[in-house]
Amino acid sequence: MAARDATDLRGTPVSPGIGYGPVVTLAAAVPVPAEGERHAGDAEAEIVRAAGALDATATTLEARGARAGETAAEVLSAQAMMARDPSLADDVAARVRSGTSAPRAVYDAFGMYRDLLAGAGGYLAARVADLDDVRDRTIAHLLGLPMPGVPEDVAEPFVLAARDLAPADTALLDPGTVLAFVTEQGGPTSHTAIIARSMGVPAVVGCPGAAGLVPGTNVLVNGGTGRVLADPGADEVERARAAERARIAAVTAVTGPGRTADGCAVPLLANVGGPKDVPMAVEHGAEGVGLYRTEFLFLDRADAPSEDEQVAAYAEVLNAFPGGKVVVRTLDAGADKPLAFLPPPDDEPNPALGVRGARMLERHPDVRDGQLRALARAAEGAAARLAVMAPMITDAAEGRRFVEACRTAGLTGDAGVMVEVPAAALRAGDLAAEVDFFSLGTNDLTQYACAADRELGALNAFQDPWRPAVLDLVALTAAGAGGKDCGVCGEAAADPALACVLVGLGVTTLSMSAPALPLVRLALSRHTYDQCVRAAAAARAATTPDAARAAARTELPELDEVGL
Ligand code: PEP
Ligand code: MG
Repeated sequence: MAARDATDLRGTPVSPGIGYGPVVTLAAAVPVPAEGERHAGDAEAEIVRAAGALDATATTLEARGARAGETAAEVLSAQAMMARDPSLADDVAARVRSGTSAPRAVYDAFGMYRDLLAGAGGYLAARVADLDDVRDRTIAHLLGLPMPGVPEDVAEPFVLAARDLAPADTALLDPGTVLAFVTEQGGPTSHTAIIARSMGVPAVVGCPGAAGLVPGTNVLVNGGTGRVLADPGADEVERARAAERARIAAVTAVTGPGRTADGCAVPLLANVGGPKDVPMAVEHGAEGVGLYRTEFLFLDRADAPSEDEQVAAYAEVLNAFPGGKVVVRTLDAGADKPLAFLPPPDDEPNPALGVRGARMLERHPDVRDGQLRALARAAEGAAARLAVMAPMITDAAEGRRFVEACRTAGLTGDAGVMVEVPAAALRAGDLAAEVDFFSLGTNDLTQYACAADRELGALNAFQDPWRPAVLDLVALTAAGAGGKDCGVCGEAAADPALACVLVGLGVTTLSMSAPALPLVRLALSRHTYDQCVRAAAAARAATTPDAARAAARTELPELDEVGL
């Protein structure tokens, strides 16, 4: 959508709600010190300056680590260790002694480590961004520039505006201090969208002009409509807040299991990355877990976790949903989720098209079977029913081998597969003959259907699950399931309008980040199953994602009524 003027912007709404407050922007990138830049002549003073900057960087990272949650703390303390590496300090000193300025010496010394990490591939290559961050912070200290990324000492709650947000930018954000996100880039499956929804923070992405918002200006962000208004009048703010109060009242008035207005049950489940996500899922009324991303437990681990450790992490989630169902996904290692103990082959030019997910575990049957045995042990006497599924399945033979591995490991519950490769969707009937259920991973299904890497901001326009081609693949999968369960656990399920469309396409369960559950519950409760079917047909008859959205909404009139 295009910007209207500098104070009234429009983007793609990805996380509903109203945010109003002063803009904070991400500090600009730290400039690269000129190649060959020399210092003024006092090498020893310059070395002291460089050492001081490295120390200050390490100290700040350690202090932030102490304030952060587990995963972020590990990343930050690893970064602090990089800044404290004595051989790095020696290398910087040697470069300064030969005449190079401290900023350029820091840049060049980090460059050597950078090449080593990048060349090592896999997990180590994924740490290059962390190393670059330490380098840039050190150079910012030396040049007296603001630290890159989100400003650290903002006292008041703020609206964060940026060109785009990286995981490192958001890892430490306190949901209590971020009123809204607005980014210039990004689509519905972008990192910003996923983080915003999991934090329950309103967000608008793909919003031209967002990065140009003036820091300190008050803006009104509507994460439901995509409008971003700078310096709104008091009456405008009050109207938006009143509409938001009405929306929240409507959302909280609907509780209980997911169902359409005419009583067709659609179980609403939560996506979780470990026991830490369970309280929020329970609080938002999840009827179970539709996607337990087990690789999230082990992203920073050098060695495969023991079976005992895994049993504990799985049992804790299972016991949080007595009488419900918990669908655990086996490790989806590779591409956007690298695991150090399951490195991809060295020569992979396109990791997203490479050895990842089920393909990776077939090459490491010891890790796969260990995980399946741990799951079987966790299921014994657990309060919830366990179902297990494999990611990135392409054909029926892979599905059969996965089910066999589950049975050999002693798993007696449902064994299913994620449908996220177009080949699997097109031949869903073959797969259904081999497995107990499907779960559509619409994030990857969209990436592969449109040949557009989901990590690439420049291709956001292709990464929209409203694309009629993606809706066709969902419909084919649901039809191919032949009466077996066919859920959706990609971000598409978290969009209230799209959730109705998915039900109309034949999807039987919806799994999403916990804060989206009440919104989807409300959207379904206001429309009949027939309305969902009509919305699905209207969306599939469209030729663009925007037209599909608009056509579906005309069949779902209550969405506007309740501000969704
Ligand atoms: C998906 O691809 O839609 C999905 C749910 O899996 P992930 O996002 O973890 O790849
Ligand atoms: Mg996926």
